[in-house]
Amino acid sequence: MLNTLKKISQEMASSQNFEQALNILVTKTKLAVNTQCCSIFMLEQNHLVLSATDGLKQSAVGKVKVPISEGIIGLAAQREEPVNIADAKLHPRFKSYPAIKEDDFRSILSVPIIHKKRVLGVIAVQQVEPRQFTENEEAFLITIAAQVSQAIGGLKQKELVKASRKQVFFEGESAATGIAIAPALVLGGQITIEQPDTPAVDIDIEYQRLCAAITRTKAMLDDVSQRFDNENDEEVLSIFTALKLLLDDASLGGEYEREVMLGWSAESAVSRVSLKFIQQFSEMDDLYLKERASDIRDLGQRVLRQLIEPGRMKLDSIDKVILVTREADATILAEFPRHKLVGVVSELGGVNSHACIMARALGIPAIVGVDQLLLADIDGKRLIMNAHRGQLVLSPTKAVLKEYQELLNAEELLEKKYLAEIFEPAITLDGKKAHLYINAGLLSGIQNEMVREADGIGLYRTEVPFMMQPRFPSESEQVEIYKQVLDAMPNKSVIMRTLDVGGDKALPYFPISEDNPFLGWRGIRLSLDHPELLLIQLRAMLQADQNRGQLQILLPMVSQLKEIDLSLSYLERAYAEVQAETGKTFIRPKIGVMIEVPSLVYQLDQVAQRVDFISVGSNDLTQYLLAVDRNNPRVNSLYDSYYPGVLRALQRIMLDSRQHQLDVSVCGELAGEPFGAALLFAMGCNKLSMNHGSIPKVNYMLRRVNFAELQCILRQALKMDDGSQVRELLLDYFNQQNIDMI
Ligand code: PEP
Ligand code: MG
Repeated sequence: MLNTLKKISQEMASSQNFEQALNILVTKTKLAVNTQCCSIFMLEQNHLVLSATDGLKQSAVGKVKVPISEGIIGLAAQREEPVNIADAKLHPRFKSYPAIKEDDFRSILSVPIIHKKRVLGVIAVQQVEPRQFTENEEAFLITIAAQVSQAIGGLKQKELVKASRKQVFFEGESAATGIAIAPALVLGGQITIEQPDTPAVDIDIEYQRLCAAITRTKAMLDDVSQRFDNENDEEVLSIFTALKLLLDDASLGGEYEREVMLGWSAESAVSRVSLKFIQQFSEMDDLYLKERASDIRDLGQRVLRQLIEPGRMKLDSIDKVILVTREADATILAEFPRHKLVGVVSELGGVNSHACIMARALGIPAIVGVDQLLLADIDGKRLIMNAHRGQLVLSPTKAVLKEYQELLNAEELLEKKYLAEIFEPAITLDGKKAHLYINAGLLSGIQNEMVREADGIGLYRTEVPFMMQPRFPSESEQVEIYKQVLDAMPNKSVIMRTLDVGGDKALPYFPISEDNPFLGWRGIRLSLDHPELLLIQLRAMLQADQNRGQLQILLPMVSQLKEIDLSLSYLERAYAEVQAETGKTFIRPKIGVMIEVPSLVYQLDQVAQRVDFISVGSNDLTQYLLAVDRNNPRVNSLYDSYYPGVLRALQRIMLDSRQHQLDVSVCGELAGEPFGAALLFAMGCNKLSMNHGSIPKVNYMLRRVNFAELQCILRQALKMDDGSQVRELLLDYFNQQNIDMI
């Protein structure tokens, strides 16, 4: 059964269009179930339209439309469950449609095709004999419907985009709010092996581009091979090893180079060589050799991607773009020319992935989890992003464009209103003061005048500069980077976090592949396993600060007390070493831990005996409390820092830290959201660290609320059942106070 299912899915995936895919589905399913008829009805505006059939009248395809409230097909869609009837004619919902000629069929099994909680259509099998379909047959049809649902959703979307010259809507999850209007730039989409024949302008340059692309492709293949090596999957491993060998000089790699030397651009050279060999291999009689044609295509496409995509990011000819990718990673965003990037959209990724945090830090709207987006041909087309609602409009009409342009202007005005108060202190109407700090990673994010209005840097993510290097930065390079960070905030505290890689933050030169990266080798775990890296980093931080007294050091992803003890001993060692080596005196920095793993929430008394402060990482704490991968779009809707269970944990942290005189701040994304900041402040946390773009908004909000009233709201929030109710409660309060929030 598994094989049959796999074959059907594969054939559908390689079909030319939606119609052909549905035809494959019905004929193959009819065969597999060994029945006399199989049909698909797609849901369109409350009607199920016969869209493909093997058994009913072909001329009815596209014409017969069954209202969802009618017939047995409609029943399956309405109930969102299979309907298995031995004799349809005896069923009260039976309805005859003469145009489809189904009189001969007595029994019917209809199964809804559901994708992302939405019914897309119904697949039905019928037979002449009046008998109920067996449990096995039913299980098979349910499995096939579940398996093809994603492909059907994607193909349908693609068809829509192709067919209409009008606007098309997509939906995903909002990861960084805002509105953007710009052409789409697709990275990570389809790259075809057929490239135009373009002569090289400068053969040396083309040669260097080709060599760099080959090196990057080899590194990527190494990376993938390593993963399969770890998993002991030798069969798959051998495929990647073979591909890498093909890239050698003596093989295709050499052929690509020769073609460049003949005067072709690198892209054309790869394309020409690939097409030539694909043809030669496809014509061979030997089946094994024939199949190697697909390896040649695969390899050519991998090298072309390395040639085309880094080049596209330079965007010489284009003004501003919305970046569309399969999965945005923080490195792409860090490298992308900032002034040309107005939005980010991706098929995969969670709203609290580090790429999204980076987007928020850059003040760029982001939408993730837009299913099958890359199947639609959107490169270069105009796109509107409404990242407040996770909506995208492709090729908008003039009227829609005008509406969004007006909305964009209104938001810009509101931003100006927030900014106008940036120099005023964050004091509530009843006189309670909050301290607002900045989360930073990119130097460009902190080197501006506005930033100096913050009370300091509450979280400096050191992994960000590490991500942008081709290797681990040396001690002196790190000293220079950290000095610049301290310089950006003269005389104010700067909390530098030790390296927090792992999870969804990878260093290109230090690949980690694990089945459960967020439960794996992350943060302090990795640093303690590589004391040489930790010691260099601690020494660099101490030297950068020397006796300025600005530095505080923060340990990420601590889950056990012994990790704190060991880290403290390394700090002592680094401290003694730099003093001895330089003969200078250094101010001893305060040290803190991030509270982002639930175990430590219950050990704050013991934490307080070891460190000076804690900083709550609500992003990870939410992930680990709710057991929801912050990076997985399938469970995005469950990831909710406002869930009262999470709020209660936060409340407990605030109460316990007060009891144990532990200085506490929050540096997760929650602190930068007006609702979140209001709740945390009400819990008694008056140190909030956020992206610099959020400071004006949170400051504006705090100046218009009453602390006592917020405490009352917090008490109600903690008793609610769901995060959405908590947000509604705060929205009502903000409306009552006339606080305009974007
Ligand atoms: C957090 O987990 O809340 C946090 C601030 O750390 P990061 O988002 O970098 O994991
Ligand atoms: Mg974290």
